[in-house]
Amino acid sequence: MDKGVVNLKLFTVGPVEMYPETLKVASEQLPYFRTDDFSKIMLENQIRLKRLLGLQDGCIATLTGSGSSAMESVIACSFDTEDRVLIINGGSFGERFTKLCQVYHIPYDEITLSFNETLTEEHLLSVNGNQYRALLVNIHETSTGQLYDIEMLSAFTKKYHMYFIVDAISSFLADPYHMDAYGIDCTILSSQKALALSPGISMVAMQTSFYEEMVEPKADKTMYLSLKEHIKNMERGQTPNTPAVGIILELQQRLMMIENQGIAVVQKEIQDRAFYFREKLSQLHIQLPSFPLSNAITPILLNDNAEKIYRYLKEIHAIYVTPSGGTYKNRLLRIGHLGNLKLSDYDELCSLLKECI
Ligand SMILES: *Cc1c(COP(=O)(O)O)cnc(C)c1O
Repeated sequence: MDKGVVNLKLFTVGPVEMYPETLKVASEQLPYFRTDDFSKIMLENQIRLKRLLGLQDGCIATLTGSGSSAMESVIACSFDTEDRVLIINGGSFGERFTKLCQVYHIPYDEITLSFNETLTEEHLLSVNGNQYRALLVNIHETSTGQLYDIEMLSAFTKKYHMYFIVDAISSFLADPYHMDAYGIDCTILSSQKALALSPGISMVAMQTSFYEEMVEPKADKTMYLSLKEHIKNMERGQTPNTPAVGIILELQQRLMMIENQGIAVVQKEIQDRAFYFREKLSQLHIQLPSFPLSNAITPILLNDNAEKIYRYLKEIHAIYVTPSGGTYKNRLLRIGHLGNLKLSDYDELCSLLKECI
């Protein structure tokens, strides 16, 4: 674990390889934050993130906590016992939405997918959308690698006038995304995935209409994760409590970097890595699942040696791929394409994979 001795390489989903410019920001003394200077940074971050998200008329809460804290704040602050919601549950992140609804007593139904099952129109036709206030989906179910069809889900939510709540934590910047174009009411983001920052902050971006109809009128069920408190404070570029000041400064640096490059270029780079790696895999005769994939990761199916390969890469070569839990512990590895990785990194990884197989 000593970074000074071993040169780590992370093909993980998060934290991912950070950029040298971000690491430099992370190494500096933190400023005090109840100042006009810090407020200005918060407000500029909001403007830049809204542009990248395709959100014209909306607001963003910056929470101190991992991505699950943002998922929790959305469930706790937007819905109550009168609001039935529909959840796409295609893996452990979908399941997390169901657990949150249980904790906060929000009535829900789920469309449950088995491991290699693609979400299709038939699944949606099998439910009566009229009874739901909102659809909750992890647009890229990171535990399996399936990317759901955003246009299909967008059309479904429009047909039934449901709010469209999207956890885009591992898809934002990797796959096409646009809140206004797809009619997305609320987006959940986190610092440690494609943004390639330290873990510790998460963001909830909301259309103003969604905030005013669903969040603002409700009494708080949580203090620390209150979206209302965060949005009220954000009017002056502040947070209710001490934020993760350092990660907010990392975010400032990274958003400027993405804007300078252009979001299309950033996205294309991630896609190029995914395509390059998948092309090399086909030469190794490694099997991929049949469902549509995000550019963020490539899930690979193995014959009972996934854990062994994970350990070998980690212990002998200090290379980290993403292992899986539960039933797929020995069958599935996920190879990340987010963060500061180069195509040549995949040459090295593939020659090691070839040795293993
Ligand atoms: C990583 C991730 C989260 C958040 O997980 P945390 O460990 O709480 O940061 C939520 N949803 C998806 C789809 C993710 O990939």
